[in-house]
Amino acid sequence: MKNEEFRLFGHRFVDWIADYFENVETFPVLSPLAPGDVRKNIPAVPPTRGEDMEAVFRDFEKVILPGMAHWQHPGWFAYFPANNSPASVLGEMLTAGLGAQCMVWKTSPAAAELEEAVLDWLSQMIGLPQGLAGVIQDSASTATLCALLSARERTTGFGSNDDGLRVPLTVYASEEAHSSIEKGVKIAGYGRKNLRRIPTDDTFALLPGRLEEAVVRDKDAGLVPACVVATVGTTSSGALDPLAPIGEVCRRHGLWLHVDAAWAGTAALLPEMRGIIDGVEAADSFVFNPHKWMLTNFDCSAYYVKDPAALVRTFEILPEYLKTGVDAKVKNYRDWGIPLGRRFRALKLWFVIRSYGVEGLQAMVREHLRLARVVEGWVVADARFELLAPVALGLVCFRLNDGRDESALNTLNQALLDRINGTGRVFLSHTTLRGKFTIRLVVGQRTTAERHVREAWDLIDSAAGELLRP
Ligand code: PLP
Repeated sequence: MKNEEFRLFGHRFVDWIADYFENVETFPVLSPLAPGDVRKNIPAVPPTRGEDMEAVFRDFEKVILPGMAHWQHPGWFAYFPANNSPASVLGEMLTAGLGAQCMVWKTSPAAAELEEAVLDWLSQMIGLPQGLAGVIQDSASTATLCALLSARERTTGFGSNDDGLRVPLTVYASEEAHSSIEKGVKIAGYGRKNLRRIPTDDTFALLPGRLEEAVVRDKDAGLVPACVVATVGTTSSGALDPLAPIGEVCRRHGLWLHVDAAWAGTAALLPEMRGIIDGVEAADSFVFNPHKWMLTNFDCSAYYVKDPAALVRTFEILPEYLKTGVDAKVKNYRDWGIPLGRRFRALKLWFVIRSYGVEGLQAMVREHLRLARVVEGWVVADARFELLAPVALGLVCFRLNDGRDESALNTLNQALLDRINGTGRVFLSHTTLRGKFTIRLVVGQRTTAERHVREAWDLIDSAAGELLRP
């Protein structure tokens, strides 16, 4: 492709994206296609000769677009959001254009230094303790794996890097912790059977007393407790583990405390919500995802550590071909995580923070929290529905409950969810809480406004009416 053609299509594609931002609401939120529908329209063999971009783009619209879920749709209430923004897309475009692979400072000083600076901003913005060092990872799952590996190394005096794990180490997380903890424990050498799932209270938050009991029990049995993962904003219900008493347990027993605030960390942008991370001073590591709720398109996960030396010691490998003359003076982020190669992710984050300003981001989050309260009010006011967890942030967990038995209620609520999502206007997802099928409605899309939650509630209301009609 000649540069002139690139220029023409580049302008057209930016127009296309701007139109998409304006019109995304007109698409069904989820793709209506069946498994295999996309694949059957993609030739089995690659083109021998280069094709015209016009033809490629035509197929993008014809074959690819109908197979997309529209995460940026204001009716997206499922999982947690993965919102983007014009500023972030523009930053990402420049990152792709520069095409830099930012593994060490020398391979792009601006990438390394901007990453350091922007993560310092972000730390101030959400009120983290001073002195934490930040690095961008691709996902919270990777960040948690890094934490588990660092905890393993620190606990073994950095011996397991060389010798492998000689004694079993144990890890603790609430029964509501995200599956990435279990995945991390599984692949970081601890072994899944050494993950202790700690019971939770009525709000689904970890019970620190039960944590202490589990640690003591393991110590008495000759095992070596290594790491606790506390969650601020659990995936199923948005529960907030109490960091201060958990930190006390970690201090008493010399355990690594990792805080997973993948989604909820963004809420700490609001001074009035900072309480959700009270006690975070005790954390050895902390992760939250600007790529969830903070307008920075996937991927961008902010990982903070108290002791960067422990992180670097866990990951550092120094082959001759990667040595530079300035290694002693700079941060080479290749040693701060698993991959060697690194994308320039800090650029889009910088664009977002500068474009919205702290106040702009706060205004969005504040409005989402208000809208979640509005939905909570509708659930509570309607006797057919039951709230299944406290609404601490932007997630509302509820179900229909007309008094039938639990198993029939689960079937009823699955049917309700299918009806709501079948409209194509909204997408809500589900979980189970204490065995109860739970519908989750998360307010977090950039363009979700009161009229969208109103529409969602109208759809819920009429689907419930249809299902309960005698
Ligand atoms: N932790 C929590 C609490 C989550 O809710 C999620 C995803 O929703 C994750 C971790 C995993 O995030 P990622 O997709 O960035 O790995």
